Amino acid sequence: MFHLIAFAVCLSLYFLPSILGRNKRNFAAIFILNLLLGWTVIGWIIALVWALTVDAAPLPRASVQPSCSVCRTPIRAGQNFCPGCGNPIAWPHGAAAPGTQV
Ligand SMILES: [Zn+2]
Repeated sequence: MFHLIAFAVCLSLYFLPSILGRNKRNFAAIFILNLLLGWTVIGWIIALVWALTVDAAPLPRASVQPSCSVCRTPIRAGQNFCPGCGNPIAWPHGAAAPGTQV
C-alpha cells in the first residue's frame, strides 16, 4: 500500500508543472514538455517556470478602446474630434458615447 502512495506522490510531483499550468492558454504545450522532457530535470524545470509565468494580457477589444476610422488613433470617450487627424468622430447612433453615462 505504501508503494502505491509513494508512486502517486512521485507521479503528481512529476506532473506538478502541468497541474500548476492547467489553466494556462498554452497548457497543451506545457503538458507535452512536462510529459516528454520532464525526466531530464532541465525539461521539468522549464515546464515549471513556463507554468508559473503569467499569460500575456489579452488584446484589448475594439469596443473597449475605440479608435479613429481614418488614422486609428485611440479615442477617449466624449471626444468629438480625433486628436491625431482632426476627423470628426461619429459615435454610433442610438448609443451614447461610452463613458458619458454614469
Ligand atoms: Zn484620426
